[in-house]
Amino acid sequence: MTTHGLVLSDVTLTYPDGDARLTALDRVSLTASPGTLSAVVGPSGSGKSSLLAVAATLSTPDRGRVLIAGHDAAALSAAARARLRRTTIGIVFQQPNLLASLTCVEQLQVMAHIDRRSPVKARARALDLLERVGVADRADRRPHQLSGGQRQRVNIARALMNEPSVLLIDEPTSALDHERGAAIVSLIAELTHASGTATVMVTHDHSHLVHADQALEVVDGRLGALTVTQ
Ligand code: ADP
Ligand code: MG
Repeated sequence: MTTHGLVLSDVTLTYPDGDARLTALDRVSLTASPGTLSAVVGPSGSGKSSLLAVAATLSTPDRGRVLIAGHDAAALSAAARARLRRTTIGIVFQQPNLLASLTCVEQLQVMAHIDRRSPVKARARALDLLERVGVADRADRRPHQLSGGQRQRVNIARALMNEPSVLLIDEPTSALDHERGAAIVSLIAELTHASGTATVMVTHDHSHLVHADQALEVVDGRLGALTVTQ
């Protein structure tokens, strides 16, 4: 039994759909262990983002269990879930939603500020992370002065700022060309192995699966091992 990392057991999630319900996740089970990268592929509308939303405790499933670093999401109050998201879960969405007015290093420092951590330590950690994602020389630039790939690197560094146990990443390369996308995914794999996060990454690009420790596919809300066809 994994106590760190992420475990989804028999999770079903539905959305209201007129008079009926649309089943976005159908009895999904997933174990993501610390220090491993799980890649999830699947057609558009198959439930990939819904899966991440449940893992991030942003959506509450109709049934099933979500364990994050040993915490049962359903047993927590809304406030405790919000705290768990800040302290234990790193989230990277498709579009790097950086604040236009802040420099790269400040984007990261904000994360520590929310939890009232030491500003001096936060700045040192932020600079270290920017170095690790390869944009140390852009620390004092603002988002409009960065390329798409550099913005996504800052976005990933920010998600790691509070040393999360679980890292959830939704289509990180969809705004990038193939070469830059491949570099980002290889960076994600490297950071996952080095920092020990249980990482779940949704991708539309099967070439990214070479970096994954586990390859999964969602079809019509059902998750399974990916049958490789090449
Ligand atoms: P993917 O990320 O694989 O494209 P999603 O998880 O976004 O798929 O969506 C799965 C299904 O759930 C789709 O049919 C989508 O239209 C529907 N859906 C997603 N979010 C909502 C929502 N907030 N309310 C209603 N239906 C939704
Ligand atoms: Mg999606």
